Amino acid sequence: MTQFPVNKFQSIRTPFYFYDVNLLRDTLEAVKKETEKYGFTEHYAIKANANPTLLRLIASYGFGADCVSGGEVKAALEAGFDPSKIVFAGVGKADWEIETAIDGGIFCFNVESVPEVEIINEIATSKGRRVSVEIRVNPNVDAHTHAKITTGLSENKFGINLSQLQSVIDKIKSLSNIDLIGLHFHIGSQITDLQVFALLCNKVNEIVADLASKGINFSNLNFGGGLGVDYYEPDSNAMPEFTDYFKIFDKNVKRDSGSHIHFELGRAIVAQCGSLISRVLYVKEGEVKRFAILDAGFTELIRPAMYDAYHKIENLTSSDEELNYDVVGPICESSDVFGKDVKLNAVKRGDFVALRSAGAYGEVMASGYNCRTLPKAYFSDRL
Ligand SMILES: *Cc1c(COP(=O)(O)O)cnc(C)c1O
Repeated sequence: MTQFPVNKFQSIRTPFYFYDVNLLRDTLEAVKKETEKYGFTEHYAIKANANPTLLRLIASYGFGADCVSGGEVKAALEAGFDPSKIVFAGVGKADWEIETAIDGGIFCFNVESVPEVEIINEIATSKGRRVSVEIRVNPNVDAHTHAKITTGLSENKFGINLSQLQSVIDKIKSLSNIDLIGLHFHIGSQITDLQVFALLCNKVNEIVADLASKGINFSNLNFGGGLGVDYYEPDSNAMPEFTDYFKIFDKNVKRDSGSHIHFELGRAIVAQCGSLISRVLYVKEGEVKRFAILDAGFTELIRPAMYDAYHKIENLTSSDEELNYDVVGPICESSDVFGKDVKLNAVKRGDFVALRSAGAYGEVMASGYNCRTLPKAYFSDRL
């Protein structure tokens, strides 16, 4: 359970991110243990949190990295991830990003369209290099998650639809400097119904069997990320059910001795170790509402405004009787609300408030809107 050293927070300018490094280590150990059990490879999804200190720690456990931009490829290389375990996805890879990845010697590109792989081939050819690619396939599996973070339906911009898969494979196989080594699937994020992953496995088995019947075989299957976390109970449920999650793939995916199975968990690894720490600026008694106005806003944690996301909010300073608050930030937008009718131990100016489970898609999405300064990060083992 994350301990907040509130006395040490006194001298720190708020808002800031606080990372529970012990929890992150425990989480990394758990993922390492489960993936090693089955010979799976985890490529941490850099986009969930690219803080260099955290990246170095994650890399030190031997995980690979999943990148969705040239900047992330650079960040992964700088943090010490093994290039031979870096994968690079994304619908719109610019030429310089492709060059960065080829020069860095990454494991493979997860390609999302024919025009893209043609450009990768051109650039690889001009460098006299061969490049491995996996096709990102859109399996049309409903992730049962928020519409803005579902990615595996035919209507989404990601991946190649099944009806076009064969012709895309034929096209890629005709390219001079490309090795087609596998298929990639990533159907969405914050998936809490593990049954969805079993459905994905079955769908992938069907796709693989269909291609095998046509003489097309791949040695790599990448199931992406998407495993959700418990935003409601970050203390009693500080780690997702990694054991059950990986077991589903071991049990359901039909594979032979030569095949490699890859994952790209992001949120499940870093969400629970991070909190956004803020001070209460004002308590405003409105006509129908009581507002707790924080010095943190959606510039530091945009998930509630962007995805209607829930984050547990706690008063770290006081354990006075609970009252209801709309917890809001200072940004000049009506969407700058962290929670409505939130029960909090009565807050007063200066109290520390924690927005929990902010380790994923928190710091990485921070912006300077309203000319705000990007907040700093602090680590439990260095305070
Ligand atoms: C975002 C993303 C991930 C990680 O998703 P999480 O829900 O954070 O696990 C993995 N793979 C790809 C291709 C992604 O875009």
